[in-house]
Amino acid sequence: MSKILIIGAGGVGTVVAHKVAQNPAVFESVMLASRTKSKCDAIAGAIGAKYGRTFQTARVDADQVPELVRLFRDFRPELVVNVALPYQDLAIMDACLEAGVNYLDTANYEPKDEARFEYKWQWAYREKFEKAGLTAILGCGFDPGVTSIFTAYAAKHHFGNMEYLDIVDCNAGDHGKAFATNFNPEINIREVTQKGKYWENGKWVITEPHEIHRALTYPGIGPKESYVIYHEELESLVKHFPSLRRARFWMTFGQEYLTHLRVIQNIGMARIDPVLYQGMEIVPIQFLKAVLPDPGGLGENYTGETSIGCRIKGTDKAGKALSYYIYNNCRHQDAYRETGTQGVSYTTGVPATIGAQMFMEHRWRKPGVFNVEEFDPDPFMEQLNRQGLPWKEVFNPDLEV
Ligand code: NDP
Repeated sequence: MSKILIIGAGGVGTVVAHKVAQNPAVFESVMLASRTKSKCDAIAGAIGAKYGRTFQTARVDADQVPELVRLFRDFRPELVVNVALPYQDLAIMDACLEAGVNYLDTANYEPKDEARFEYKWQWAYREKFEKAGLTAILGCGFDPGVTSIFTAYAAKHHFGNMEYLDIVDCNAGDHGKAFATNFNPEINIREVTQKGKYWENGKWVITEPHEIHRALTYPGIGPKESYVIYHEELESLVKHFPSLRRARFWMTFGQEYLTHLRVIQNIGMARIDPVLYQGMEIVPIQFLKAVLPDPGGLGENYTGETSIGCRIKGTDKAGKALSYYIYNNCRHQDAYRETGTQGVSYTTGVPATIGAQMFMEHRWRKPGVFNVEEFDPDPFMEQLNRQGLPWKEVFNPDLEV
């Protein structure tokens, strides 16, 4: 019987649970575990009511390897889908090695005391997974995840030489709050306040935060101010597609969001080091998370849509110049109606589930640690169209970048 263990019961975990429930032939037996068991029970209750399926639930502190190993040995899953936080990646990978379980996540490991996005810590596990005969699939959300698979698909089917890659991520949604983040606030704020970084002519170019920006036009949405920020998939994509002369990542931000962000930083609330408060150590950004809206609860009044894709330039298989744009648009209200969450959780949870399906169906299964672009993109692309994230291709448009 195919068994899967989902760790993390936030917005993304909720979507994975729904999608797994919708595919009973692939995922026969399911457990949902997280730090707060009541959240797992609430999701399992909703799944039972909607799909008539029973999921087991458990409490686990995923920072504690022995706790994880005990849980893995009790439940004996084939695959663990890690949709907790990036801080837990290495502990969960260690537990997988100890208990003989395969691994999938959506975000690369980050040390708690340093906002640094690098694959080096997880790539260092390659040999251990290889020796154990286990598969680890890294970064299987939307970005990283689908954006990397879009790139692999473009390389496989359209490009002879891929030279310029611009990943463009637009959220043209409105949740009606003055300030909220679309996924875990601590991770989100750490990501968007760091310096910009992109790849050009064989080296990394560093910029001040949000230094490079311009309006880009998104399909069905129109022009939106977009900012070059560093995003983790750039690191693996320039490694796996060495023909890339330049690779950048653009994200849209509204003025209101940027103003709040600046204030949060200026008053010290984005600090990730502990401060002494009434004799107790607290980390300001973690306290901030406790008072900000829960990203998982933004869905009900969220209007508008996301549009995320890749704009690529180079030459086609016959050596002729080619510009290419591949993207998905996802409406927040559609995501809410299906899963009770907003579009950003949806666009992350659906690919994580498809990645798990690829593993279960033996399409993406080989010993070692891999980024998603190292697997065959075709069966994954087919499932995106079936599981709620259809994509479109445009040949030779004005890429604007
Ligand atoms: P949430 O904060 O909503 O949920 C995180 C969940 O993990 C919570 O249920 C939390 O438990 C649980 N958790 C945290 N620490 C532990 C721990 N030590 N042990 C067990 N469980 C723990 O985050 P999201 O659902 O928004 O995001 C989940 C992941 O998805 C993150 O890693 C994020 O970076 C990633 N992501 C990836 C994207 C992509 O496109 N690739 C896009 C968006 C997100 P508790 O409820 O007790 O706090």
